[in-house]
Amino acid sequence: MRTKKLVHLYCSGQGCDKPATWARFTQYSGKHPFCDVCAKKEIDFNKETDNLYWEKIPAKRVAPIHRIEVEHYEGELELLVRRIHGMRYDKVAEFYLLTARELHKQAEGDEAKGRTVLADILRGAASTTLRQHQMFKGVWRLCKPHIGKPKKS
Ligand SMILES: [Zn+2]
Repeated sequence: MRTKKLVHLYCSGQGCDKPATWARFTQYSGKHPFCDVCAKKEIDFNKETDNLYWEKIPAKRVAPIHRIEVEHYEGELELLVRRIHGMRYDKVAEFYLLTARELHKQAEGDEAKGRTVLADILRGAASTTLRQHQMFKGVWRLCKPHIGKPKKS
């Protein structure tokens, strides 16, 4: 059995993902975490009715800005790696393509903030990851014809 760990929450506001500082609890759809900015945009912010209430997340429980865990995989990074690489190879290839894009985006962000050394390293990582993507595409080309065919006995 996995032990229940403290789960850090991140904002569920559209495209936000900042550490959550508020949580809205509703009777029918459960808990929704929000950062300060997104919470205050909600029409029912800090209201209490029979079906919902808001709670400020205590400072010591607010998630770090840079995550140290992946939601639903707290303390299970190795399991996450296994699950990603247990997918069909075309999907693993896609994972690396998306990772390369994400790293490139982060590089652009750091470049814009004047962090040029970090931006260069991230661009290098993006380019290495793109190579990974191409390698897995090659693996997929090799394996695709055999997928779904019955094994020879
Ligand atoms: Zn937010």
